Amino acid sequence: MQIQEHAFAKLNLSLDILRKMEDGYHEMSMVMQSISLCDDVTVSCEPGEGSVTASTNLKYLPVDEKNIAVRAARLFFAHTGISGYDTKITLKKRIPVCAGMGGGSADGAAVLRGLNSLFRTGLDGDTLRALAVKLGSDVPFCIQGGTVFAGGRGEVLTPLPAMPGCGIVVCKPSVSISTPQLFSRIRCEKIRLHPDTNGILDAITKADLNGIAVRMYNVFETVLPQNAGQIGEIKSELLDHRALGAVMTGSGSAVFGLFETADLARQAWEAMRGKYRDCFLTAPQDRIPILA
Ligand code: C5P
Repeated sequence: MQIQEHAFAKLNLSLDILRKMEDGYHEMSMVMQSISLCDDVTVSCEPGEGSVTASTNLKYLPVDEKNIAVRAARLFFAHTGISGYDTKITLKKRIPVCAGMGGGSADGAAVLRGLNSLFRTGLDGDTLRALAVKLGSDVPFCIQGGTVFAGGRGEVLTPLPAMPGCGIVVCKPSVSISTPQLFSRIRCEKIRLHPDTNGILDAITKADLNGIAVRMYNVFETVLPQNAGQIGEIKSELLDHRALGAVMTGSGSAVFGLFETADLARQAWEAMRGKYRDCFLTAPQDRIPILA
């Protein structure tokens, strides 16, 4: 038996870091948004010895325990007590790696959703999210995605009304940034400027796209390494091409711009895609229902 799931990428409309917690993680305050850009995750299970294997179109991605999708399958079987199946996971990657777009997290969440459907285990959203947090801070969000306020490590989620329709261009420069390294550059007490998170939440409630776009802000942009100059360049280019606002997502290095219409986004994408290998035309993606 086999199932295919879309693993949607995420963007941070805002990202704030409030403090370093006793466990070494940081307390976050983020507005997260799923986008239609996705990986395709196929999960096949046949009677067998309980092996979990993965394959992917990206040669350099690990397909062992380092891959969240593999760990997600093992976690599902350990939690449910289901045994006697060999599991094959096929990842068709489109979401760029090390981009701050939650690609690995989305794949892990898709495996949990897929296995839950395949075995009709009926785990509800809360149970899937409780499993997901064991895989990474962004994985609980990826279980259902949509438009969400995220606190805690990133796992304390409050669903929001869907953001207004718009066009989105995402562009990842060649530089890749390590998430733990970027966190280690943050000194919470030295962050001078914080995003107007309440303003963004208010703009989402009012379906005010411009109000969202002008408030987008990511505190990680203040501690970028010197070799990340392209991030600022891409932001300027997106704004030159009539984005309402542009910001880096997560710990980078991808940058995105919001556009009033899909047509305006397409024009920007067509102008920029020759210059950047990872340049995507995309749109907001709604929350995924979980049929428990
Ligand atoms: O949770 P996840 O495994 O995705 O986190 C990767 C790394 O990012 C952690 O080891 C930690 O260094 C850092 N992190 C953090 N605070 C968070 C989330 C992640 O310091 N809220």
